[in-house]
Amino acid sequence: MLSKDKTIQAIRNAGIVGAGGGGFPTYVKLQSEVDTVVANGSECEPILSSDRTMMVKNAKALIDGMQVVINATGAKHGIIGIKGHYHDAVDALKKVLPKDGSIKLHLLENYYPAGDEFLLVYETTGKIIPEGGIPLNVGVVVSNVITFMQIADGVHGKPVTERAVTLAGEFNKPQVVTAPIGTTYNDLIKVAGGFAREDVILIDGGPMMGKIVDDWNAGIAKTTSGILALPKDNFIVRMKQKPLAQMVRQSKSACCQCFRCSDLCPRNLLGHELYPHATMRTIDYNLTNPTKHITSAFLCSQCGVCELVACDFMMLSPRKIYAAYRQELVKKGVRNPHNKKPVKVREGFEMRKLAIPTLMKKTGLTGYGEKLEYTQDVASKIVRIPLNKHAGAPALPIVMVGDKLRKCDVIAASPEDKLGTVYHASIAGTVSAITQDFIEITGSR
Ligand code: SF4
Ligand code: SF4
Repeated sequence: MLSKDKTIQAIRNAGIVGAGGGGFPTYVKLQSEVDTVVANGSECEPILSSDRTMMVKNAKALIDGMQVVINATGAKHGIIGIKGHYHDAVDALKKVLPKDGSIKLHLLENYYPAGDEFLLVYETTGKIIPEGGIPLNVGVVVSNVITFMQIADGVHGKPVTERAVTLAGEFNKPQVVTAPIGTTYNDLIKVAGGFAREDVILIDGGPMMGKIVDDWNAGIAKTTSGILALPKDNFIVRMKQKPLAQMVRQSKSACCQCFRCSDLCPRNLLGHELYPHATMRTIDYNLTNPTKHITSAFLCSQCGVCELVACDFMMLSPRKIYAAYRQELVKKGVRNPHNKKPVKVREGFEMRKLAIPTLMKKTGLTGYGEKLEYTQDVASKIVRIPLNKHAGAPALPIVMVGDKLRKCDVIAASPEDKLGTVYHASIAGTVSAITQDFIEITGSR
């Protein structure tokens, strides 16, 4: 095993960021000392199968990566949070768990958002992360299972150049593939056999928290866990596309203060003082003297339960209101004032968990299946590697148009003194374009 310092440097050099969607640079997490390392194998979002597939394919690499992190952080043990009904992945992991019991499985129920770090830490350790806090506050480090697999490679000098991507929804051939970072959405649409209908939009990520893709010629990021093709008239799509101004207008007249959004809010259930119904009453307030129901925007995880499930009858979105409030507060230099440390979850925590089948039915996702098969490693002829889809400072190119590259060559890096990451050539070829947002490489074969 490498020393702590060398491990951190290797993880930074390998360009590893949270593969679950957050894109937070992983080397920073390894700088801490903790009690427990938790691997997030919950595949939080419905329809996605990337984490599950990789746990079956690369179970040993997950354990190896966890052992690297346990060693670097001085943790006493590791826990893999995994859905109990992922029988294939559970069986694969059971075969490679260390005999000394230092890493265990924790089987999760099939609910959303079981992969939210706050909920996952509570489920696996019984500890509640304080308001505005992070897992480190309760002695825990959490990373996605694929991130741990990348760590296992990273300490041996292999950088992040590819990732598992679920192609689901209205494709002719839904499947899970591994693709070079920067493979274009258009190329992956072809891999999935094109669309099964014409009127679709693409979402990068899961249906609940993923973002609509405007440019299908752009390339996938290190955080792209899935690409979903959904009909334009799907409820989720309509809600994602609803402009904020329209939402605010409707909220003023249509919110009946039924409390349902607060009742189902997962962060509220953990004991945090987040009451979306009360925040909906503040829409007319200005921000000169923000009340607690406005600054509670800092406590919202943007999980979408309030918008897509609780308020499906009125089609209002506390989530969007919170996002807008947060943006304004940050712009005004207001910092999160909330720091309550709940000692127990709210009564009804178990009863109010949102079962995935219910969520799928309510959002029109039933029928897209839950488990997709792994089919292939995609070989891309051209990649457009995004330089700014991680937390921290964007990466700056260190190559020029016309440069010949081998796979894994470093092509861009965030400034050393800033939070950020490093990018590598995901295919061998020639740099054919550089913009502020991406580096394009055209393959040599
Ligand atoms: S669920 Fe909808 S209508 Fe009910 S309080 Fe929340 S935002 Fe208002
Ligand atoms: S998006 Fe809605 S349900 Fe989710 S944490 Fe925020 S307020 Fe709660």
